Amino acid sequence: MSEKTKFYSRCYIGKGIDGADEYGYTYSWNSSHPELVETKTVKISRYTYCAYCGENANPIQAGLVGDGRDYSVTGYTCSCNCKGSQNEVEYFKELEELKQKFYKEEESLVNKYSELLQVDVEKLICIKHQYELARIEREKNRNIGKRDYFNFDGDVNSLVY
Ligand SMILES: [Zn+2]
Repeated sequence: MSEKTKFYSRCYIGKGIDGADEYGYTYSWNSSHPELVETKTVKISRYTYCAYCGENANPIQAGLVGDGRDYSVTGYTCSCNCKGSQNEVEYFKELEELKQKFYKEEESLVNKYSELLQVDVEKLICIKHQYELARIEREKNRNIGKRDYFNFDGDVNSLVY
């Protein structure tokens, strides 16, 4: 295996022991490392490879971060953390920052214009009432929509023209 990254857990088993490196350590992939981010991989046959360098891709189990107990594989990433996979992580980080920046700028634009774009609700209600009064007047003139004492239940909202 190629160079070990921070995403591997190191375990001391003793110098000269089979499987140990020159300092006596073995390494195993830590699929629940909190900094692991999914990168582009390709599945060929039963194996998953990094799309950038062709090294094996290792699984990520995001559900195990912290006190999590979800063992499902949530993605794959390059086992050697190659330049290509790092660039992809950087790209999405910058994209997210750009989106945040855009969101903040849009928010301040909305705040600026919310003072300048005031709707005159009072005036609009007056106009709407003028139309309603004119309509009632028209209905009266056509002799429909009149209510006598016996046909009016006192509820203005029930008046349908
Ligand atoms: Zn790679």
